Amino acid sequence: MRIVTSVAAMQRLARQWQQHGTRIGLVPTMGYLHEGHLSLVRRARRRAGQTGKVVVSIYVNPTQFGPKEDLSRYPRDLKRDLKLCRAEAVDVVFAPSDAEMYPGKAEGRYSTYVVEENLSRSMEGASRPTHFRGVTTVVAKLFNIVQPGIAIFGAKDWQQAAIIKRMVADLNFPVKIIVAPTVRERDGLALSSRNKYLDAEQRKQATILHGSLQYVRKIVTRKPAPASKLKQAVKKFMAAAPLGRLDYVEFFDPETLQPATSVSRGTHMALAVFFANTRLIDNGPL
Ligand code: AMP
Repeated sequence: MRIVTSVAAMQRLARQWQQHGTRIGLVPTMGYLHEGHLSLVRRARRRAGQTGKVVVSIYVNPTQFGPKEDLSRYPRDLKRDLKLCRAEAVDVVFAPSDAEMYPGKAEGRYSTYVVEENLSRSMEGASRPTHFRGVTTVVAKLFNIVQPGIAIFGAKDWQQAAIIKRMVADLNFPVKIIVAPTVRERDGLALSSRNKYLDAEQRKQATILHGSLQYVRKIVTRKPAPASKLKQAVKKFMAAAPLGRLDYVEFFDPETLQPATSVSRGTHMALAVFFANTRLIDNGPL
């Protein structure tokens, strides 16, 4: 496994692969890898084939964090990540520095961003106003650097995947986007690098996210219900997790992300919940 830290070296390698017609599969991550990330890596390997190359990028992207968010304390463990990638037969880990990814930014000379203007407005975008601008920018940069034919994203970040798909279509990136299912703990909690922030009691109560999904699923299997009523029902249901504070719960079309007024089977639900300063998200089809 090669560890590449420079943009120029990664581009050179990608160009060589391209010239030989080698398939390149990219898994973009912020590191502190868990089974959710590794499931994407395995999917990339299956899709790229044994002769293809799998690239995992590990980069905590500063532009997708708000000024009051957890950039500086975001968990990092590159040594462990490299070990996990090696065990998955990853071909290249691309782990650039901030200076490599955003040249001149510290001196105020970086000024180009990719902005998706529609799907980015709701939910995560409403709570974290500059988040998706950072995500689309870094992913566009990674596509230009790694030149993948396929890229794998997790359904855990449903809105993010929808925005990336839109960006790829709008800007003609020759990349096939694959969305892989959310990997969960036994009790339903979606795996997340941020779960590390939770203390024992918060961890117990964090099952409320998945629990809310199940709860609403049960209601709408019987018959459709108005979104407004279901939002109230979820707020009440949250009383079972007094350490949690609901940031939002939304019901929407899984493809267009258009809000649903009437919620039935097949409508998508997403929610975000704070446990102290830790913000967890989850989503799923109903
Ligand atoms: P992150 O490192 O949190 O930026 O995530 C990198 C990629 O892994 C994103 O495409 C996420 O959607 C995906 N991911 C994160 N958690 C999970 C999970 N529990 N199951 C599946 N994919 C995940």
